[in-house]
Amino acid sequence: MRLILMGLPGAGKGTQAEKINEKYGIPHISTGDMFRLAIKEGTPLGKEAQSFMDNGELVPDSVTNGIVEERLAKDDCEEGYLLDGFPRTIPQAEALEDITNKLDRKLDYVIHVDVPEEKLLERLTGRRVCPTCGTSYHVIYNPPKVDGVCDKDGSALIQRDDDTAETVQKRLDVNVAQAQPLLDFYEEKGILITVDGDQAIDKVFEDIQAQLDK
Ligand code: AMP
Repeated sequence: MRLILMGLPGAGKGTQAEKINEKYGIPHISTGDMFRLAIKEGTPLGKEAQSFMDNGELVPDSVTNGIVEERLAKDDCEEGYLLDGFPRTIPQAEALEDITNKLDRKLDYVIHVDVPEEKLLERLTGRRVCPTCGTSYHVIYNPPKVDGVCDKDGSALIQRDDDTAETVQKRLDVNVAQAQPLLDFYEEKGILITVDGDQAIDKVFEDIQAQLDK
């Protein structure tokens, strides 16, 4: 299964991606995670991406498309992949078409997790992530068993630098303006699946499965 997961920041993409990865056994490819890892490791890619990410701006396509192509060419994407955070723009969507055609790994579906914008601000400022394994939690909606501690590996949870109120608002503005053309693009291709993301996590996943297993 070759999939894109779409939704504004905070819509629950990361959480649903984990569940899809578990059930369908396809790698979860998050461009945001790839950039954060590169920054943590201090690679040239990380140095290039850092200033854009700190300002809540998109990393240039010349950089982003290249890392996606490299990643999708890997052996573990043979049976499928789940893209998260890419594409963000029409030029990226067009680049993705070229890449997936070239690799003979064309998209099956685009899943849109739909959540009203006003709910997202509340969700995002409560988000905490594990710096070791990347699992996301929410202080209200999806708390860890022990406050501030990752269920999986016991690491102390952190608030991402780009989850502060000011950066969140900027990210929402950027994303709202860019999401609609992409949704239209995939709707026209007849591969867009929209699920109501303003429900319990397990219910959202049930809706996704019901559509994919049709
Ligand atoms: P995310 O974790 O998906 O919210 O991404 C965090 C940040 O990484 C974004 O604000 C961008 O700076 C950068 N980023 C992630 N994906 C992309 C992309 N497809 N194109 C450009 N920049 C991206």
